[in-house]
Amino acid sequence: MEFKKNDIITIVIEDMGVHGEGIGKIQDETSFTFFVKDAVIGDVVEAKIMKVKKNYAYAKLMKIITPSSQRVEPKCLYNKQCGGCQIQSLAYPAQLMLKTNMVKNNLIRIGGFSKAFLEAVMEPIIGMEQPFYYRNKAQFPIGVNKNGEPIAGFYAERTHVIISNTDCALGAAENRQVLEMILSYMKQYHVSPYMESTGTGIVRHVLIRKGFATGEIMVCVIINADKLPFEEKLTQLLCTIKGITSISININKEKTNVIMGRKCRLLWGNDTISDVIYPRTPEEIAQNHDRCDHENKQGIVFAISPLSFYQVNPIQTEKLYSIALEYAGLTGTETVWDLYCGIGTISLFMARQAKHVYGVEIVDQAITDARKNAARNGIQNVDFYVGKAEEVLPNLYETKGIHADVICIDPPRKGCDPACLQTIVKMQPKRVVYVSCDSATLARDLKYLCENGYEVKRVRMVDMFAQTVHVESVIMMQLVEK
Ligand code: SAH
Repeated sequence: MEFKKNDIITIVIEDMGVHGEGIGKIQDETSFTFFVKDAVIGDVVEAKIMKVKKNYAYAKLMKIITPSSQRVEPKCLYNKQCGGCQIQSLAYPAQLMLKTNMVKNNLIRIGGFSKAFLEAVMEPIIGMEQPFYYRNKAQFPIGVNKNGEPIAGFYAERTHVIISNTDCALGAAENRQVLEMILSYMKQYHVSPYMESTGTGIVRHVLIRKGFATGEIMVCVIINADKLPFEEKLTQLLCTIKGITSISININKEKTNVIMGRKCRLLWGNDTISDVIYPRTPEEIAQNHDRCDHENKQGIVFAISPLSFYQVNPIQTEKLYSIALEYAGLTGTETVWDLYCGIGTISLFMARQAKHVYGVEIVDQAITDARKNAARNGIQNVDFYVGKAEEVLPNLYETKGIHADVICIDPPRKGCDPACLQTIVKMQPKRVVYVSCDSATLARDLKYLCENGYEVKRVRMVDMFAQTVHVESVIMMQLVEK
């Protein structure tokens, strides 16, 4: 069958792709694949062909003929335009199933693992009880509407057009009040929004962060100027909102897509907010409640500044780190290396159960924060190195013959550098715990480690990013005894 642009066809959606798009076929035409944005697995849809390639095509959803039994009403009105959530129309259990299959398929296709093996080592994915309002951080761009009034919202997918929406379904409930207040201050005192096209105007973005365990809220207004006009009027308003403990500005006068500039100035309150991450027991992980009793537990306190990196889903972070800790199997005698350690979150989480933890991270500000966090928690058996994991680790191994019982790695999406993996293999730790946000590079790296003396023992996914296609995985590998 020949397909051409503008043809209207009926497609059965059988799968979903890495961007959350529906993937389907036409009945009796199994060799040709269609990608349909906004269609979900199980839908039968009418679609219009937009672009034809050799054996696949992109089609636009025109009408849902038979909705999938997994289709739900999205919570957010803007979910189709906004680039933030891709799979809000899919029921949450089906989202978890989809993510499990995505990881499994990559481990089979790229990692070379068999389906039967994976079924034996994969534990059930850890979802959320409340898969909305989980984010502790939001960055809203500020712009203008048709009437020239300031608006706050989100960029439409793959554009810089701002959709006005102060009520994101993933963010903290307070965001809306903060934004409405900033917008009304801007109107009253004629403070202009920044215009990307001309590089003029003042207010670019609003960053809001909340410590879920402490209730502390930080507001940081990112401006294209050194000073915000009538700063004191804004702080007077904002500091009446319950929970706000930090108000600052960040200066960004560059014509750039990068949201934050390097310089912050405190207007009111403290320059950081704090949050606490508590360990969870294996029983608590098995029960998998979002909230759990933290009495009599020693958490780790983190100070978070506008510029520091911090996991955005604190509830799932507790579950994720607790699984990483369990997989590390620490008894108090181990030397642990935490590569790609950020502000030392996993390092500090493990330190109380290890002999010594060494962290390595490329961003020096993060290491400064990591050292402060260690001191704040009275943790002394940690040391941090600034540099690339693929340089620091081999150098120290060659020059000092460093040793590890356990190595934990939590790299960015591109995965681990070969030089880093090679050194891990040379160091022969008993266990490797791999935390990954990209299952394709994870699969590639696991393949290498399995070809070089390690075996995968346990695999578990944690859904840190409900309503989106992203998922985090934790893997425990063990050195094969010879
Ligand atoms: N484990 C931390 C951070 C994980 S994010 C946490 O859970 O909070 C990955 C981290 O790797 C980031 O902090 C990033 O700055 C750092 N990074 C990126 N490339 C790196 C490299 N080549 N060597 C060391 N760290 C790197």
